[in-house]
Amino acid sequence: MTKPEQLRISQEFRDQIQRCSRCGFCQAHCPVFGSTLRPALNARGKMLLLKEVLEGRLELNEDLVESIFQCTTCASCATNCPSGVNVPEIIKAARKDMVSLGTCHPAFVGMNQVLEQSDNIYGEDEPPDFGRPRNQKAPVVYFIGCVGAYREDEATEAALDLLDHLQVDYTLIDEACCTGVLEDVGYDMKPRLVERNVEAILATGAKTIVTGCPYCLRTFTHKEQYLPLRQAGLEILHLSQFLARQDLGLSTEQVVTYHDPCDLGRHAGIYEEPRRTIKSLAPNFVELTHHHAEALCCGAGGGVRGAFAKNSLEMARRRLREVEEVGASVVLTECNSCAHNLANAKLRAQKFRVLTTPQFLMELIEES
Ligand code: SF4
Ligand code: SF4
Repeated sequence: MTKPEQLRISQEFRDQIQRCSRCGFCQAHCPVFGSTLRPALNARGKMLLLKEVLEGRLELNEDLVESIFQCTTCASCATNCPSGVNVPEIIKAARKDMVSLGTCHPAFVGMNQVLEQSDNIYGEDEPPDFGRPRNQKAPVVYFIGCVGAYREDEATEAALDLLDHLQVDYTLIDEACCTGVLEDVGYDMKPRLVERNVEAILATGAKTIVTGCPYCLRTFTHKEQYLPLRQAGLEILHLSQFLARQDLGLSTEQVVTYHDPCDLGRHAGIYEEPRRTIKSLAPNFVELTHHHAEALCCGAGGGVRGAFAKNSLEMARRRLREVEEVGASVVLTECNSCAHNLANAKLRAQKFRVLTTPQFLMELIEES
């Protein structure tokens, strides 16, 4: 498929690939292996394949593309690796090299092309109108994110209703995709879209950005391209952190459980704020079998939902089996992407509901 080429992975990552002891501890945690049972798709398999490439024994072929591009970047493997191998960061570096050598999964080529021309990852022409103040002066900007804006608009309506209920003085902006995900799949972020977001946010004079999307939170707080927001002294919060500061005065007897999104949990270390809100109103809260840093990935991240849809849904089904096991009537999550994948994977026979926390809170508010 492609000429044999050496990847240009950094020495630090080469050392980590060599350090992989093949112990297989990652196997129990990798969602891609868990849904496919294929060793080449496990974190260990990925490291072994890259070692072969680096030592000149394997070409960049379709099997390699399938393995390296089928990673949700969930970081479960890195969290549990006794040898300190940061698999998702190595995968991201390898993808970048593979893209530069013209060896990439077509779904990711398409994602990059869409963001060359459009301002959202779905290539939609019409931005959704949530009927809220937009591009106004306000102390808070609510940044929705592509999934919330174009696919999970009911969840976004609930989040906005909740902000209204709490009498938060906020504005939306004419937002564009934060483009952070492009760096996960081997491409560069889009300066045109980054600048548009930065200018629009700063023009509001806001002191706080609240994101509906954990990935946007990571992008705004960590990517160099969004440094002007941090230099302007803006506080950047995920909605779950913002809500944890509020007194909601709600309660329910429903058996509620919580799915930790990888981007909010393992990647941003935000585990307790969502639980503080949920536990304060749901005394029958129950943890899933795997929770906090050990939470199973829903299968949507790293571009896997778009490129490997069937396996992505199977990963979500594995997660939903845990909801059944603990007997919850509703599973909440703080990520529109997780909510989207979990809801799509839920079988009709499964009687529990999949909701974002704001959706659940708005239900309780409307019932009270
Ligand atoms: S847990 Fe770490 S060292 Fe062990 S096989 Fe997986 S990546 Fe390699
Ligand atoms: S980051 Fe997640 S999906 Fe990727 S190899 Fe590690 S455990 Fe598997």
